[in-house]
Amino acid sequence: MKAWVRHLNGLISVLTVSRCPLCERPADAYFCTSCARQVQACELKGHKVSPGEDSLCIVAWGRYTDALKRAIASLKYDNHPELALPLGEWLAAAWLELPQRPARLTVVPIPMHVSKQQQRGFNQAELLAEHFCDQTRLPLLRQGLIRHRETTAQFGLTATTRADNLKDAFAIGKDCLARSPAPVLLLDDIYTTGATVRSAAQTLRRQGIRVWGVAVVAQAALDRKTQ
Ligand SMILES: [Zn+2]
Repeated sequence: MKAWVRHLNGLISVLTVSRCPLCERPADAYFCTSCARQVQACELKGHKVSPGEDSLCIVAWGRYTDALKRAIASLKYDNHPELALPLGEWLAAAWLELPQRPARLTVVPIPMHVSKQQQRGFNQAELLAEHFCDQTRLPLLRQGLIRHRETTAQFGLTATTRADNLKDAFAIGKDCLARSPAPVLLLDDIYTTGATVRSAAQTLRRQGIRVWGVAVVAQAALDRKTQ
C-alpha cells in the first residue's frame, strides 16, 4: 500500500472515530469506558415505585448528580440526541424490574414548546420515551400533550415559582383527543420538585384521563428543591 494511501486511511479513521460526549476521549460505545462506569454509578439501587404528590407514582433510573447530570446536559444542550438510546433503555430495564408495575399504561412524553423544540431539533423526553417503549412494549402517544405556553427555564426557581410558571402550560394533544387512552405514564428526563409532572397530570385529569405517574431517567435528591 502506498504511503499516501496509508496516511489517508489513518486520517479517515482519526476523523471518524467516535468521541465520548463527556470527555472527548475515543469511545467505541455511547460513552468511553470510564464515563460509562461513572454514569452507571448514578443508578439507584433496588428500583422501586416512590409515592409523589397528587397520588402520582415516581420511578427513576438514577440520581440526578455527577456524571448522569452531565450526560443529560450533553444530550440536551450539546446536541447528543443519540444518548437518549442508552438512557431510555436503562430506564426501561429499571421499569421491567419492578415487581408490581401496572400492566396497562400508555406513555406520554412531557412536551416542549414548539419554538424551543425547533431550536433544539428534538424533544429529549420523546426520544427517551421512544426507546423506553421499544423495550417495554408500552404504547407511546407522542402527542398526548402539547406545551402551548412557553415557560421560563425551571432551573433556579423556587418550588412556588415553578408551580406558577407551569400553570396552564399544557394542553391535551391530538393523540389523547382522538381516543381515550389507558392510564398514562408520563415520561421525562429529570424529576426535581415534580411541578412539571403535576401540571401535566392536572391537564390530563381535567380531560378525564387517569394518570398513574411518571418515569424519569434522573431524580434530584429531595432536599435539593431548586436544582
Ligand atoms: Zn468519557
